[in-house]
Amino acid sequence: MAKPDRIWWSHPPAILTYGIATVSIAGALMTARWLEDHLVGAPVALFLCAIMLSAWFGGSRPGLLAAALSFLSFKYYFVAPAYSLSVDIDQAPRLLLFAMSALFVWSLSSAQRRTSETLRRARDELDVTVQELKRLNEALLIENAERNRAEEVLRRSEAFLAEAQRISRTGSWSWNIPTRKVTWSAEHYRIFGFDAAGGPEPTLKSVLKRVHPEDRPLVRQILEGSIRVGWQFTFEFRAALPDGSTTNLLATGRPLSKDSGEIDEYIGTTVDITERKRGEVELAKAFSELKKSEAQLRTIIDTIPTQAWCWLADGSSEFQNQRWLDYTGLSTEETRGWGWTKALHPEDAERCINKWRKIHASELAGETEARFRRFDGEYRWFLMRVVPLRDEHGDIIKWYGTNTDIQDLKRSEDALRNTQSELARVARLTTMGELTASIAHEVNQPLGAIVANGEAGLRWLRRDPPDLDRVHVSMEAMIGDGNRASAVISRIRGLAKKASSQKALMDINDVIQEVILLVEREMQVHVVSLRLDLAPTLPPVLGDRVALQQVIINLIMNSVEAMSTVTGRPRALAIFSQPAEPAEVIVTLRDTGVGIDAAIADRIFDPFFTTKFNGIGMGLSICRSIIEAHGGRLGASPNVSGGATFRFTLPLAERISHD
Ligand code: ADP
Repeated sequence: MAKPDRIWWSHPPAILTYGIATVSIAGALMTARWLEDHLVGAPVALFLCAIMLSAWFGGSRPGLLAAALSFLSFKYYFVAPAYSLSVDIDQAPRLLLFAMSALFVWSLSSAQRRTSETLRRARDELDVTVQELKRLNEALLIENAERNRAEEVLRRSEAFLAEAQRISRTGSWSWNIPTRKVTWSAEHYRIFGFDAAGGPEPTLKSVLKRVHPEDRPLVRQILEGSIRVGWQFTFEFRAALPDGSTTNLLATGRPLSKDSGEIDEYIGTTVDITERKRGEVELAKAFSELKKSEAQLRTIIDTIPTQAWCWLADGSSEFQNQRWLDYTGLSTEETRGWGWTKALHPEDAERCINKWRKIHASELAGETEARFRRFDGEYRWFLMRVVPLRDEHGDIIKWYGTNTDIQDLKRSEDALRNTQSELARVARLTTMGELTASIAHEVNQPLGAIVANGEAGLRWLRRDPPDLDRVHVSMEAMIGDGNRASAVISRIRGLAKKASSQKALMDINDVIQEVILLVEREMQVHVVSLRLDLAPTLPPVLGDRVALQQVIINLIMNSVEAMSTVTGRPRALAIFSQPAEPAEVIVTLRDTGVGIDAAIADRIFDPFFTTKFNGIGMGLSICRSIIEAHGGRLGASPNVSGGATFRFTLPLAERISHD
């Protein structure tokens, strides 16, 4: 505790106190000497004042010094015999009185000084005590505020705990062993079906009564056993509640020991796990259902009449169904990763794997065809289809696919292709039958010219001298006519030949020109004018020349026929060719014929659809399948000013090679 500050004179230095005593007596002496003659009794009063001042200021010892000095001075200067310290007997009472007065003043002043010193000290101490009390009070206030805060925090955490217990259906308890007093949390009351607010406080006995009768012996046994040996315990049991319901509870408890090691309390929790139990049962049921349906699914996957498989996100194989394994004779292990490619036909392997890589990179569903080796070594065609399986972020987790045996389909496709090509040939022959007269004329005309030129040449030869220049001209004309007839015949042979389709690079303009040679005469006969507007240069297309010739002949012959009944306006056929985006050529035939009625517009490409008396309705259907087999499109539309426009596209060879 800090001592309070004191004023400087409460403990003045000794030299100062004695000095003041001496000086005050000297001062009193000089003043008394000066006043001696004027004022009787002044020396006594002055000396007493000096003693009083010295004792009051310096304490008892300086006061005593002042009294002694006063006495001596008084005797020496003011009591006879003057200027001597010897005492006359008759002056003795006066001196004694002075001494007694001096001592009385000294003792009074000393006592007063001591008293005021004591009072001052008492006041100082009181001040200190007051300060101390103030500090204590402040500390108490702080402590009180802290306690209030702590109590608030405690209240809040108790409320949180109670809420947490309520939400989690967890009750807590403690059991004081010496007093056998059990304390339950509110939730514990509720778990055992007691009224938490206001009802009678449950006892251990009443709680045990709420344990399901079948579990009660076991609960007693565990509790008693654990407490006897001081073990922790965790066990499940059931409670039979007053409302008739049965709940599943999980009890845990652990002992708390005193410093001596003696167990004096158990604390623990009881959790209502009815919902969890129910969930577990349902989960187990769902799991077994899942297992069952997974087994069923597996059986289905293995027995469906198609091969099914699954690839990992990186494209390597994870699973092949039994049908796939049975077909190839490979084991599951052998097919893992890229092992499945062992079953691919060597000619298809590279293409098939490249195609799969493309599908994998595109992250989209895709398909390809490939031959797979059967366990006995035979290869069959399969259509492989694959679709990605994505997670909720859209990332691919797996790829699922099927292999469908299309061997028989392929065979039928081949047969169909043969039939189609035979049909196309028959159609060509039919068209040529229609063109017979024109073609005969086309051939006859050069033949007649050859004969005429031959005769003329002979005549020039018979001349004397023979006119060899003229003969030369005749011979050249003969060769020209011969070539022309030969070209017509070779076109006809080409169209009539039963050749399998062979694709080659060609300029579609050349094909148009070749066809014109055959139908020119027919157009002349039907008074149809022809306008050719072909693109000066066209990139090559990859196609079957004869088939494309057939398409163009068919379209031209249809136009000629459609214009043959038209009167009153010119019969004109315009043929255009032009390049177009994306990487294709377009060939357009526009006529001024009868046009296409809206009612039949979408049927004219159907097989056997015809509006002609002698028609068979296969021409346009064959043309469309030829164009589509080349990767192009064929369509028709009526012209605003009458007549019809037919247009087909063909992809450029460069585009096909990219695909
Ligand atoms: P066909 O010539 O034997 O009738 P197509 O398949 O060639 O068989 O033609 C089917 C039908 O399409 C024709 O009967 C005709 O009605 C219509 N058609 C074809 N080309 C034209 C055209 N240029 N103008 C108008 N109608 C046409």
